[in-house]
Amino acid sequence: MKLSKNYVFWFVTGSQHLYGPKTLEEVKKDSQGIVEGLNEKGALDYKVEFKALLTTSEEITSLMKEANNDPNCAGIIGWMHTFSPAKMWIKGLSILSKPFVHLHTQFNRDIPWSEIDMDFMNLNQSAHGGREFGFINTRLRQPRKVIVGYWEAAAVSEQLNNFMNVCVAIAESKCLKVARFGDNMRYVAVTEGDKVEAEIKFGWEINGYAVGDLAQYVNAVTDEEVDALYEEYKKSYNIVDESQDNVKSIKYQAKIEIGMERFLVEGGFGAFTTTFEDLHGLEQLPGLAVQRLMEKGYGFAGEGDWKTAALVRLTKIMGNNTGLGTSFMEDYTYHMDPSNPMVLGAHMLEICPTIADGVVDIKVNPLGIGGKAAPARFTFECKTGKALNASLVDLGGRMRLIINEVDAVKAPNEMPKLPVAQAMWVPQPSLEEGAKAWILAGGAHHTVYSMDVNTEQLIDFAEFMDIETVIINNNTNLSTFRQELKLQDLVWNLKSR
Ligand code: MN
Repeated sequence: MKLSKNYVFWFVTGSQHLYGPKTLEEVKKDSQGIVEGLNEKGALDYKVEFKALLTTSEEITSLMKEANNDPNCAGIIGWMHTFSPAKMWIKGLSILSKPFVHLHTQFNRDIPWSEIDMDFMNLNQSAHGGREFGFINTRLRQPRKVIVGYWEAAAVSEQLNNFMNVCVAIAESKCLKVARFGDNMRYVAVTEGDKVEAEIKFGWEINGYAVGDLAQYVNAVTDEEVDALYEEYKKSYNIVDESQDNVKSIKYQAKIEIGMERFLVEGGFGAFTTTFEDLHGLEQLPGLAVQRLMEKGYGFAGEGDWKTAALVRLTKIMGNNTGLGTSFMEDYTYHMDPSNPMVLGAHMLEICPTIADGVVDIKVNPLGIGGKAAPARFTFECKTGKALNASLVDLGGRMRLIINEVDAVKAPNEMPKLPVAQAMWVPQPSLEEGAKAWILAGGAHHTVYSMDVNTEQLIDFAEFMDIETVIINNNTNLSTFRQELKLQDLVWNLKSR
């Protein structure tokens, strides 16, 4: 996944001078040991650098300033080996603009029963040092992640790694540019939103371009470039029918892919939208082209839906290519058989092949909408297992992120006449209750569908972005859920004043 920077994480340890230089030496050595251990295990996608042992307010404030100004620093990992009186953290934490994780761990896993004395106690006091530090973060209403556990445990590395990927998504969010080819689909409400608010909260620059601007880039692509990309398609996917008309259609999508990517690269865009209502100068709705660009890591959503497009991009970063996949998605059709209820998710064309299970076919079929030539597209079935759908909606005055955990399943039957990629899932806690909760929360028909990220990552992302989250999963009870929505409304209305 192409990122704008080489991100690293800074590890800092809090202490104080009360214990004397010998103890501080030990604290520093243990901190370096943890950092080396975390890096050597190979469980983290990004490097951790031991940055400093912090013992005064001046040191802390100066380090936070340095972190804010270092574009490669994606976040800070803080640990209290000893007690670090938290008033000295107030100024630094107050100005920190990077995500912070409080790693509540201890250098020694076990109490050395026969050896333990007061020197050991004074060196290994995370249990209360971490509480002092926790208090000041809570007092400051500081958004932060807290991870508790022994630093060598796999569960700790896993949580840390998940969070590091969230931090990188936050950093990329702050410089994300979204290109909109054409506007919102006419009359549609849920895909609309306040782009100024989105730039304030998420940092997204969302700008519109005439589709004719894109058409110029597409028309400038040479036949040689198209032929070379067609050969790449042949190697990577199964082209079902190589009749002359089909090849022509597929090559036109190759032409769109090259032109579109050039446009996106030149403008530094990480996400984009199209709309079938505005294709002036293009012969087909971008289908295969969009699917290929999503596969490369671009965010995308149809019908001018910039919120979902940006969220697809950031979810892909948060998921960091676990191999399971993340795509633009739409709840399309239900199977309402009471013995086997499920949702068929798809879109007109644009589902990302990262979620494919098995062979990815390229087919050409008429679209039945938009009045353009039959577009080429990838078709495939999707992987099964844990997945989630997430939707970002603008409620007027605030953004709400709705997350529904779902169980992706195999379709019980073949669908030979359906010429689009499709996913099947059962929403938690059930189709009936999941859909009801989703509708009450105002969730869109467009979503980010992901098997790469978990709910906790999205909650963490939302916390640092200061937006509301609503979770629908097996713990959801509809009567308390309705109360929760009312309370959230109250809380967020107060917050936005
Ligand atoms: Mn749609």
